[in-house]
Amino acid sequence: MAQEDVFKKLVAHCKEYGFVFPSSDIYDGLGAVYDYGQNGVELKNNIKRYWWESMVRLHENIVGIDSAIFMHPTIWKASGHVDAFNDPLIDNKDSKKRYRADVLIEDQIAKYDEKIEKDVEKARKRFGEKFDEALFRETNPQIQEHIRKREALHERMSNALNANDLNEVRQIILDEKIVCPISGTCNWTEVRQFNLMFATEMGSTAEGASKIYLRPETAQGIFVNFLNVQKTGRMKVPFGIAQIGKAFRNEIVARQFIFRMREFEQMEMQFFVRPGSELEWFKKWKTTRMRWHQLLGFGEENYRFHDHEKLAHYANAATDIEFKFPFGFKEVEGIHSRTDFDLSQHQQYSGKKIQYFDTELNESYVPYVIETSIGVDRMFLQIMSAAYCEEDLSKDGKQDSRVVLRLPAALAPVKMAIMPLVKKDGLPEKAQEIMNLLKYDFNCQYDEKDSIGKRYRRQDAIGTPFCITVDHQTLEDHAVTIRDRDTMQQERVAIDQLFGILKEKCDMQTLLRKMTE
Ligand code: ATP
Repeated sequence: MAQEDVFKKLVAHCKEYGFVFPSSDIYDGLGAVYDYGQNGVELKNNIKRYWWESMVRLHENIVGIDSAIFMHPTIWKASGHVDAFNDPLIDNKDSKKRYRADVLIEDQIAKYDEKIEKDVEKARKRFGEKFDEALFRETNPQIQEHIRKREALHERMSNALNANDLNEVRQIILDEKIVCPISGTCNWTEVRQFNLMFATEMGSTAEGASKIYLRPETAQGIFVNFLNVQKTGRMKVPFGIAQIGKAFRNEIVARQFIFRMREFEQMEMQFFVRPGSELEWFKKWKTTRMRWHQLLGFGEENYRFHDHEKLAHYANAATDIEFKFPFGFKEVEGIHSRTDFDLSQHQQYSGKKIQYFDTELNESYVPYVIETSIGVDRMFLQIMSAAYCEEDLSKDGKQDSRVVLRLPAALAPVKMAIMPLVKKDGLPEKAQEIMNLLKYDFNCQYDEKDSIGKRYRRQDAIGTPFCITVDHQTLEDHAVTIRDRDTMQQERVAIDQLFGILKEKCDMQTLLRKMTE
């Protein structure tokens, strides 16, 4: 199946099974804003817990905060967002569709990559076992030509964006003959800068009201609380402050479902270090964060680092962790070495001294910062797209299939479904008794409607790792049939073994322990 179709199915699945709904659905939705349903909120909370506990609980030198969404407007002046948190936009005059000019060019760059991969695949088929891929990539003239063009385009775009030369950005689009995917024409407007921050007013009268912003990132709430936390928590550099919270960006083009939203949630951690030690810490955090992702078990080959060649003026290193979504490798998390830029800016704009006295060095300095920043919703989409699986179960000429979400057990919304075989003979009461035994530790679901087969499929579709069936024999031997989501194997186990099974397979601790191994 084409990856595009897989993605469409995934979006439909998210709605059908109570994971994600369009916001204001009965009013036909609101662009790039989504609500999480009964299963979605459980998965989302589990993702947040996995992140929070691996940061705050596993690191004695990392603490959390929860800062307000509204902040003093000068903060956004100091951080550079008022002047520079812009995206270049361009409209197609025929289709009236709006695009991010840089994304149009990036898509064009990606086309060269696709051409290269196609040529490699063709050659692999042609040469069979003798094929030396590395040599082919290095020596094939056509591939070399694609690489040259790709790099030249990349450089031209970077230069234009760095110089904020919007005419040149437009010229690149024209020279590359990039057309609007809707109208198919090159009839483009000028390129303009568009600030992504949402503004509103605080105060009850128009005259007395002041313009404030909905935060476009959670990080600034951490920077402006640096002194509060360092002093009250008696924190010693190196230490980190973590935060999970909503962020808002008026994205020009919202596409790919919850990949790019206008209201979303971030999990950010700012790690404060001695000046000069930042690149060492940057390397450490790269490794730690990649490990956090890979422990979910979706295959190491589906992750990669994308080191930034073009750095923001205040950064001295930056990388993205990219995941292979159905629409290609895309950023899930950013790790940035932000120097002392943010704290210094706030020091300057607030007029307050923001420094740390290092007792070992006997000197004061503005700490340097390593930031790890990941979107909860993007992580959610990453997990859903990796877990979604359509399985053909046809056997002996009989057609059968199922959709199963192979979610990591610790993140699954429901850990165990408890099903009485029939709705009588005391079986529902027995099933409820088991629910009462487990529900304080694990999210379990009681389900007595429809045939057992249908109930299994329903649980597969929301990723429940285990289903147990309570039958007549249970009343005598205090045992149940437990079915594994992935293998569909069933076995008989004693009721008092259930807690242990869930603890071993579904508890967040199992994942967290691996983080520190
Ligand atoms: P992009 O290049 O995709 O716009 P970015 O580089 O602007 O992202 P950051 O500012 O580094 O992103 O934000 C950190 C993380 O927040 C991203 O890696 C992503 O997971 C998440 N994120 C950013 N913008 C959005 C959005 N509009 N919707 C959902 N998640 C987002």
